[in-house]
Amino acid sequence: MTPPETETHPTGPLPGGRALSAPLLGREDEPTLFELSSPGRRASSLRTTGLPQWGADELVPASWLRTEPVPLPEVSERDLAAHFTRLSHRQYSVDLGAYPLGSCTMKYNPKVCDEAAARAGFANVHPASPPFLVQGWLQVLCELEEMLCEVTGMAAATLQPAAGAAGELTGLLLMRAYHAARGQDRRKVIIPDSAHGTNPASVTLGGYEVTTVGTNARGGVDLDSLRAALDEDVAGIMLTNPSTLGLFEEDISEIAAAVHEVGALLYYDGANLNAILGVVRPGDMGFDIVHLNLHKTFATPHGGGGPGSGPVAVSARLADYLPGPRPVRLGGGGFSWATPERSIGRLHSWHGNALVLLRAWVYLRLHGPEGLRRVAEIAVLNANWLKERLRGTYDLPYDRPVMHECVVSVASLERETGLRAIDVAKRLLELGFHSPTVYFPLIVEEALMIEPTETESPQTVAALADALVKVAAEARAADDATSAREAPRTTPVRRVDEARAARRLVATYDQRP
Ligand SMILES: *Cc1c(COP(=O)(O)O)cnc(C)c1O
Repeated sequence: MTPPETETHPTGPLPGGRALSAPLLGREDEPTLFELSSPGRRASSLRTTGLPQWGADELVPASWLRTEPVPLPEVSERDLAAHFTRLSHRQYSVDLGAYPLGSCTMKYNPKVCDEAAARAGFANVHPASPPFLVQGWLQVLCELEEMLCEVTGMAAATLQPAAGAAGELTGLLLMRAYHAARGQDRRKVIIPDSAHGTNPASVTLGGYEVTTVGTNARGGVDLDSLRAALDEDVAGIMLTNPSTLGLFEEDISEIAAAVHEVGALLYYDGANLNAILGVVRPGDMGFDIVHLNLHKTFATPHGGGGPGSGPVAVSARLADYLPGPRPVRLGGGGFSWATPERSIGRLHSWHGNALVLLRAWVYLRLHGPEGLRRVAEIAVLNANWLKERLRGTYDLPYDRPVMHECVVSVASLERETGLRAIDVAKRLLELGFHSPTVYFPLIVEEALMIEPTETESPQTVAALADALVKVAAEARAADDATSAREAPRTTPVRRVDEARAARRLVATYDQRP
């Protein structure tokens, strides 16, 4: 498993004595653009046309202008393209292979969605354009809102929130506005102990206190624990269904009734919507507020820090509080913007991450109701098939049919061989797969949370299962996990310190030698 020798590029050493890596290997540290820079080199070679040009000095007062040019890297277009292409080859991505990162739904996104988003008629529109110039855009937004309401069983939606966590904050602010309108100042929000970390963080940011409820032996919300926590000081409960254990919440009707009984609201964390698309709707389960992760379920690439989108859909009694302005249909068939009467205000500049919204519109139109149901069915089939293949190799802490993801535990294997979830994850990288989510949900010891998604073929899911079984078998054969602890040996970067980036935030690059 030793990586091949790295060769140096024929162009020779860079300033500072470093060498470019061979283009096809890309293993050495890729230099920064600043290191590649050479004075006077340009990425474009436009001829001067002789036409009069407006210079900055005519438009901006002289006292505001820089006297020294900004020290930006100066590189040719060719070097620039090669630099980013080399970097892209050091990455693992949804386009490259299975990316079974549970909860995050890292699935392949149809390219036709990107194609629509790249069209000038959509991409080049200024968000301040008056409605009469952008009727097509407004129609897309209106229709998307209607389709998302249909999928979730809700009455109205906002497309503004920029991601799931922003949707959660929106939902909590809606909750606050709703109770305030009833003259109530409730202080607590209930969250199960299996919840995603953004849930308690959003509760705190929204000015509420977190009350945690436990999980029962079947992996659902513990009803006794919930009933004990419910009183008139509870503003609402945040749940995802299926839960982060990949299990459908069997008692959702009882939970909804109990929560509504004390006048509180049900918030649905829609990150797991992939599992139930076209089959069952949060609105029908009794939820009042739903956020969706368009970048998980509805065809926007994510994971690279790009824009996301977390629309929030609500039942009729909350529609009046939604952020504004919202796209609306006018009587005569046209479209415009309107802000709900008791709106909580804006959650995003302009209208949200519009091109992400467009991708979701294309994705929904591509699939239609039948296609969406098929997405969920195959996602669930893949996850259950995988879980059964892992039976006997890993522990199955809550052994029930799963939805779109399965959570297995490395605990027994660790006791036998010392192999930990993190070692499995790193060894998998050597076998050509992105790691599953590890150590989440927090209530499962040495957890691997695996979400194959509907976009992977049976052959790929089988290969993933084989790889997971192989990692465990290797450790068992040698009675110890020493080899896996050395992994990954074949990636551009070996094992990184998981916590250092968060604890020692150095956001600048010092180019002095
Ligand atoms: C991803 C996720 C979130 C947060 O969504 P972001 O778009 O990353 O902010 C919330 N809950 C669950 C269960 C998730 O998987």
